[in-house]
Amino acid sequence: GRRFFVGGNFKMNGSISSVKEIVNNLNGAKLDPNTEVVVAPSAIHLLLVRESLKKEIAVAAQNIYYKKNGAFTGELSVEQLNDAGIAWTLLGHSERRVSMAEVAESNEFLAEKAKAALAGGVGVIFCCGESLEIRKENKTKEHVLSQLKSAASAIKDWSKVVIAYEPIWAIGTGEVASPEQAQEVHADIRAWLKSDVSPEAAENTRIIYGGSVSEKNCVELAKKPDIDGFLVGGASLKPAFVDIINAKS
Ligand code: 13P
Repeated sequence: GRRFFVGGNFKMNGSISSVKEIVNNLNGAKLDPNTEVVVAPSAIHLLLVRESLKKEIAVAAQNIYYKKNGAFTGELSVEQLNDAGIAWTLLGHSERRVSMAEVAESNEFLAEKAKAALAGGVGVIFCCGESLEIRKENKTKEHVLSQLKSAASAIKDWSKVVIAYEPIWAIGTGEVASPEQAQEVHADIRAWLKSDVSPEAAENTRIIYGGSVSEKNCVELAKKPDIDGFLVGGASLKPAFVDIINAKS
């Protein structure tokens, strides 16, 4: 079976004191040992979190650059993550692909990043998801798979990849996808893994859901066969994050 996986994406939130509070809360909480937990604080808080958080919980960057160290002002390298004990990175969040239009990360750019992260031993939480417009046009599957296909061409080893399906219309809106809506896309992604990658990748790759996940809706979502965990935004900053981690227990 696939190990349940819950990520907390703090986005551009938190101060030293509020992040310390989150860490203290997680350190003291009883977490389901069957759940793999990863938190992704802002770059400025990565070291603080890694040094103070219990080791059962991994830490992720929210982004990396694909080049080695060098003259790339403002960027973070895979080597720097390794040096600091940061085992994961998010990639391709819709806020970087779409919402921050000035950034507009492309599929090709993200494939380079995924390749660099995995080559350096850093796990990738690779995000995909459609806008409301695309969903209304019934092009969700086609859109999500096109986001994954380009990355897949750069991925040899899927054991350190987690796919996060995050419909844009559900992010930060309080409008969570229904368990059926999420399950349908997760099943499409798994079927594509089976046909285009390998039966092993389909069987073993965690596909997690993100978008207005809360302590109230997580238990029903977690019952679906192809929902292997969550990527949590707003609720990961609150004590209720523990209830989401424990959604299966
Ligand atoms: P919310 O949980 O705040 O909707 O954010 C989801 C998300 O974007 C996680 O990456």
